[in-house]
Amino acid sequence: MGCSDKPGLQPLDAGLDQLLTRITPLEGSETVALTNSLGRITAKAVRAETPVPAWDNSAMDGYALRRADLLADKPLPIQGRSLAGQPYTEPLKPGYCVRVMTGAVLPAGCDAVVMQEEAEVSDDGVVFHKVPEEGNNIRHAGDDCRVGDRLLPEGHRIRPQDLALLASVGCAEVSVRPRLKVALLATGDELRQPGEALNVGDLYDSNRPALYALLERLGVQVHDFGVVADDPDALREVLQQADASCDLIITSGGVSVGEADYTRQVLGELGEIELWKLAIKPGKPLAFGRLNRSWFIGLPGNPVSSLVTFHLVAARAIRRLQGQPDQPLAQLTAVTTDALHKTPGRMDFQRGVWRQTEHGVEVRSSRTQQASHILGSMTEANCYIALEQDRGPVEPGETVTLWLFDGLFAD
Ligand code: AMP
Ligand code: MG
Repeated sequence: MGCSDKPGLQPLDAGLDQLLTRITPLEGSETVALTNSLGRITAKAVRAETPVPAWDNSAMDGYALRRADLLADKPLPIQGRSLAGQPYTEPLKPGYCVRVMTGAVLPAGCDAVVMQEEAEVSDDGVVFHKVPEEGNNIRHAGDDCRVGDRLLPEGHRIRPQDLALLASVGCAEVSVRPRLKVALLATGDELRQPGEALNVGDLYDSNRPALYALLERLGVQVHDFGVVADDPDALREVLQQADASCDLIITSGGVSVGEADYTRQVLGELGEIELWKLAIKPGKPLAFGRLNRSWFIGLPGNPVSSLVTFHLVAARAIRRLQGQPDQPLAQLTAVTTDALHKTPGRMDFQRGVWRQTEHGVEVRSSRTQQASHILGSMTEANCYIALEQDRGPVEPGETVTLWLFDGLFAD
């Protein structure tokens, strides 16, 4: 039995399973203009109402011709010109060719396009030195999509290339999920804002700006409730407001055992919350549950822990609420150039810097200090070095799994 089975410590996967099973996607949909749909989640599959391309057209600047006409080995006079947006509508006459530019509609009767570099213009017409293959340089109607084809599935986050695809079929509006409203607040009497002076024991609130930015990247609507003092009445009031106006509440701090008694008490009054001790390092304590009408995720206060638990847990919950398919962080296998401290018992998410070398992917620790208050370990990093629960110390040259967080939100 691994130490992961220690009583009270819950493996990450088990916690995630529980959370993803309980959460159901937000209902409803709204219609938005295509131009406003970037980052939104499709409420239903989008299908093509026109084919793309809509017409057979030329893939090259050149000449549209009938291959059989080349057998006579005579120049083909130019019958007409077809440009993108200025089609030539007559059918191709036997023994002629039509000058075509890229994207131009092809005349009926042609069966290939020869690029201009392979043709010679003479006084008697155009001379072609070899017979092209049938269909050469012809883009066929419906090559990209046909009427009824599914362009995007339901639950898909719209990216720039998706906008292009939808625009290409003339789609002006998209049915999307309502934007998730997420309340964000930080708890702690010690928290000050940049610009304010620090009294003894104070520190600047660094979690809220980071969480705010992460939430924005996920495309949700963030309601910032600021910093709440370690006071049950203050917390109760803010949580009630947040619950009334949002779909999900994310807090930082105040959930570690010991100090959290009043938090637990307030949350207990307002809904059903479980305090989890996840078998991960950093970021052990985490609260999850439901208030009257919103979901609640309480992240730990330590700066690195709050980011790690956001990436590992909150981002997955948000995807689920938004109706997106579940997707953990992308993973990569690498060889570590550093020795890594590790004791069996919890899954470690050490901060690393990976790079591609001629031998493959290498990773090093982003800092020798990996404690959960060392934010610098995170800013230097471009991945987590995920060390399995039961793994012990790691030697240089060993293979490790990386979980990538940069680029995660570019999906
Ligand atoms: P807590 O989870 O409230 O027990 O906080 C754990 C540690 O994280 C303490 O050292 C706090 O001062 C620190 N901390 C809590 N909230 C924040 C925050 N918003 N920004 C930076 N550090 C914080
Ligand atoms: Mg606190």
